[in-house]
Amino acid sequence: MQKFSATTPIYYVNAKPHLGHAYTTIIADAVCRWHKLCGEDVHLLTGTDEHGLKIQQFADAEGISPKQFVDKIAPLFRDAWDRLNIDISDFIRTTEERHKIGVQKLLQACYDAGDIEVDVYRGHYCVACEAYYTPEELDTGRCKIHNTQAEYVEEENYFFRLSRYEERLLKWYADHPDAIKPDHRVNEVTGFIKQGLRDFSVSRKTLTWGIKLPWDDSHVAYVWFDALANYITAHGYGTDDKQFADNWPVDYHFIGKDIIRFHCVYWPAMLMSAGLEPPKGWAVGGWLLVGGEKMSKTTGNVVNPLDLIDEIGVDGFRYYVLADTNYGNDGDFSYEGLLSRYNAESRKQFWQFGRARGNSCRKEMWRHRTRAGFN
Ligand SMILES: [Zn+2]
Repeated sequence: MQKFSATTPIYYVNAKPHLGHAYTTIIADAVCRWHKLCGEDVHLLTGTDEHGLKIQQFADAEGISPKQFVDKIAPLFRDAWDRLNIDISDFIRTTEERHKIGVQKLLQACYDAGDIEVDVYRGHYCVACEAYYTPEELDTGRCKIHNTQAEYVEEENYFFRLSRYEERLLKWYADHPDAIKPDHRVNEVTGFIKQGLRDFSVSRKTLTWGIKLPWDDSHVAYVWFDALANYITAHGYGTDDKQFADNWPVDYHFIGKDIIRFHCVYWPAMLMSAGLEPPKGWAVGGWLLVGGEKMSKTTGNVVNPLDLIDEIGVDGFRYYVLADTNYGNDGDFSYEGLLSRYNAESRKQFWQFGRARGNSCRKEMWRHRTRAGFN
């Protein structure tokens, strides 16, 4: 039986699920459902990213442990995907034992390959991104995504020698020209590689809420080796060799355009270093903007998808998300756009499908429309 395997990003549990999370997840689910209709054996992986400084800070602010904090938020994602009718095969949490074992194995493999080395980092850091930036990548010292001042830091870190992977990555993309969808994103990735790659930090000494480095327990793994590794640890890396051999590489990582560098440059290099295959492909979506801006707590334009399904139903909402945007480009969500599309197209479908499928279906659709306040 033909297999199809996809992943969504794992979502950071510093906030409840919002429309942006739902957008990527619904698209991945819709593609998976297509493959299911074709009779394939389909696997969809999602989950939650639960370590890091921000989680520690949120937990401290509430006077609870980080574990208590993540145990409170992670189920909200699971429930949201249930309510949005996402057909999940596996939900991984980065605080699970299977993940911890796999992350340590991946780190050790890259360390043994000579690609992880200790060094001192000096430079600018955005707390919200949990990423280092060069002055050119910042806008007069401010993060371009969060529009907040980046902090100057100086500390001992282990670094992954990404700079050693330029040639290998470019060769891999030359050999796999169709790996990234939509096509124009390939140039963005190879262009970035050709500018020259910088080593990136993989550990923190000051942080305790994370997975310890297997060879130096005064450091914990930081962001990329922890979060990205979910794609292999969920498939048995470090815990079940047969499961891993049968299921890796996956067909697609569904991601948003803002994390393309980490997924299409850092991640395949990390895998190559550990002697593993990169994934077969990436599907890179645009953002679902609200009022022309990216959803964020700071701008206060966060839309809760669950509020919308209370109004127009799960299928109405999923239909809108899929129909109203061109995949790969940014979409612009508006409440008015949602209602007018629902109103125009559900009226059409009410007559088309309702007539074909009989009275009970018509009644149900009518009841639904009436309850949602349409006429
Ligand atoms: Zn930032």
